[in-house]
Amino acid sequence: MANPNEVPKYTQLFINNEFVDAVSGKKFPTNNPATGKLIAQVAEGDKADVDLAVAAAKKAFHRNSEWRKLAPLQRTDLINKFCSLLERDKSLLASLETQDNGKPYADSVFDIDIAIMTFKYYAGWTDKFFGDTIPGGEFIVQTRKEPVGVVGQIIPWNYPILMLAWKWAPALAAGCTIVLKPAEQTPLTALHLAALTKEAGFPAGVINVIPGYGPTAGAAISEHHDIQKVAFTGSAEIGRIIMEAAAKTNLKRVTLELGGKSPVVVFDDADIDLAVDITHEALFSNHGQSCCAGSRTYVHEKIYDKFVVKAVAAAKARKVGNPFDESVKQGPQIDDEMMNKVLGYIESGKQEGAKLQCGGKRIGNVGYFIEPTVFSDVTDKMKIAQEEIFGPVQSIFKFSDMEEIIDRANDVVYGLAAGVITNDINKATKFANNVNAGSVWINCYDAVLPQTPFGGYKQSGIGRELGKDGLDSYLETKTITMKLV
Ligand code: ADP
Repeated sequence: MANPNEVPKYTQLFINNEFVDAVSGKKFPTNNPATGKLIAQVAEGDKADVDLAVAAAKKAFHRNSEWRKLAPLQRTDLINKFCSLLERDKSLLASLETQDNGKPYADSVFDIDIAIMTFKYYAGWTDKFFGDTIPGGEFIVQTRKEPVGVVGQIIPWNYPILMLAWKWAPALAAGCTIVLKPAEQTPLTALHLAALTKEAGFPAGVINVIPGYGPTAGAAISEHHDIQKVAFTGSAEIGRIIMEAAAKTNLKRVTLELGGKSPVVVFDDADIDLAVDITHEALFSNHGQSCCAGSRTYVHEKIYDKFVVKAVAAAKARKVGNPFDESVKQGPQIDDEMMNKVLGYIESGKQEGAKLQCGGKRIGNVGYFIEPTVFSDVTDKMKIAQEEIFGPVQSIFKFSDMEEIIDRANDVVYGLAAGVITNDINKATKFANNVNAGSVWINCYDAVLPQTPFGGYKQSGIGRELGKDGLDSYLETKTITMKLV
């Protein structure tokens, strides 16, 4: 049952299977974005705490440790046990997630369901990655896949539980040990999940969670000499800082899942209501706070005017408000900073000549709610056409032919995802094969499955998460060559 007043049980750092205060004794507030009120004070980790967590993770990764000696299927069992605890605590976790993040309660439940699927998927991988035997002339050669070691993981606030699952599941399947920093806006569910890993039976030090701020706790992770890989999801700006820190320190492996400005192209043969529905959800789901949000809606000129009318009607019908109200589809933006950033983009859209069809304003003055907003007549060089808004603002563009739309779809610095809506297999295939994006969805959107690789072209990132590719990024390949003497 949803509980808007669920009180978090865990607000300290989680190091070596214990909840502890920060070395500095500092705490930071985490607020409810729907009310602006404090939920809890959380221990604020810093370099000293990251050092302790990494030491615990390093010990847990020692070749003679309990964790390293587990048989693969024992890791499978631990992950599956953890999944059953996630099921048990689902409503508690969803209640905490909705308080801390502001997303509708049903969306929090959905995220947890996908997180469980992700863990179950990777639980099956523990005994299924292996190397080759390679013909090497006079040599006998084999390759082994080994876990990279201690990994640092830094995640954002938009999908706190789900992003954690994308990070923990492949790392645990591979046999790594983990130091995770949740976003400072949403630390609560990661701490509860940490407690569940202990209850499931993961050995001490395998999983450590250090809430705190980016330039302190986050930087301590990306600069740490005993961390062998850092996996980051967040902005391109911070991705650059993390990659630089990795390069300047120990050349740790880096995977980055960054921003996007994803096009969704609607051809004139498409079922228009279906297209309106898909493009609406592509943008407005999670309040537009999604790296793969379909934030450029390109509509063929023949159906453009009709489409805009229907898209505006869909936006106006989207209910905004208390995320614990079952009829609400859109809660608050994460904080006042993000809200003001989004409102700034709306102003720039107006100033650059896009046509504001609906929305455009903050709702009330409690919490960080923004009206679902639709701009039509958006052109490619406008700021709202190039930069990631990360809010409930749909931009609708007009196009006329295939070659033109491929070039325009590719004319941004990002390349995370793309969508195409048409009944013409030739158009769909030509677009899918030529768009520069890590994921392309045809007649659907946001269909991210645990089994399928996800990640970006160009400045949307480096590497892939999910699927076998996601597992590979937590593995090293060792070549063992033997000569018969
Ligand atoms: P968003 O724009 O989604 O908030 P950010 O890139 O700012 O994304 O933050 C994503 C994560 O990166 C958060 O956990 C944040 O604390 C962390 N972070 C921010 N700055 C740094 C930094 N300098 N080094 C490491 N991590 C950072």
